[in-house]
Amino acid sequence: MITVIGSINMDIAIRTDVFPKQGETVLGNLFTTIPGGKGANQAVAAARLGSQVQMVGAVGQDAFGNELYFNLKNENINVGGIEKTNNSTGIANILLHDNDNRIIVVPGANFDLDQQMIERHMDLIKQSSLVILQLEIPVETIDFVLDVCVKLSIPVLLNPAPAANYKPEWIEKVTYLTPNETECEQIFGTDYETVLKQYPNKLIVTLGGEGAAYFDGTKLVNVPGYKTKALDTTGAGDTFNGAFAHAITAGKTIEAAVQFANIAASLSVEKFGAQGGMPQIEKVNERLE
Ligand code: ATP
Repeated sequence: MITVIGSINMDIAIRTDVFPKQGETVLGNLFTTIPGGKGANQAVAAARLGSQVQMVGAVGQDAFGNELYFNLKNENINVGGIEKTNNSTGIANILLHDNDNRIIVVPGANFDLDQQMIERHMDLIKQSSLVILQLEIPVETIDFVLDVCVKLSIPVLLNPAPAANYKPEWIEKVTYLTPNETECEQIFGTDYETVLKQYPNKLIVTLGGEGAAYFDGTKLVNVPGYKTKALDTTGAGDTFNGAFAHAITAGKTIEAAVQFANIAASLSVEKFGAQGGMPQIEKVNERLE
């Protein structure tokens, strides 16, 4: 059982020919709402591949909250750990213009995910073979979950995004840390190849189309990405994390799990939207052969 403890957001995307200046109103030409949030995305990625997944998180008592709750339920995710709070559902307001974007995230209910909420769902956490965390919920909650997992000897996969919320002491408490190249430099202040050697079989750095790398205790292992034409890389990292979790809990080696995750993520970048392109297991297996 994989337990994802993290964010659930509605991404509100607007495409426009011009960004409005201060005080100005302009007409946009496209509006969509797309389920997102790193926590929800990673839960969907693992569930689509056939993992048993449960989610601990928070949404508001509003229409978005309802939609996101049922979206996860429809993906066969156990939603027993999702609470509805008095806050608004978390949103990301995404303004798109040419290849540029401007994004405002309002965490809302995601920031209600506190220690008490975790304690209310301890039964779910205790059943986990792996707990997945990202950094879109309060850092105090991450602190608490990590201590619980260390105490219960439950492995943790921490995807340290956004990296600004990362605390250095966490590396000792997690089983896997999966920053992308930029996040890795932000966290450790140096190039990833130097840092990898310090955290063998723990630090796995994703490298976009180039795949991912880790240090196996003896040598640096570069697992090349699957070459494909990327249409939309939104959610590539989330697919990688969910797929890696699926593979590692199914008993694969780190190298095989990274290869599996690269292939799942390569399929996700071929379609629009974070969750839109997340593959079923059959598609990944086809590419693995
Ligand atoms: P994002 O923020 O876009 O969701 P990220 O920055 O967290 O992603 P990346 O390192 O860019 O993470 O990508 C994660 C994984 O997705 C890579 O390790 C790789 O497996 C896959 N991937 C990303 N971009 C491509 C691409 N253009 N072609 C094939 N695979 C890709």
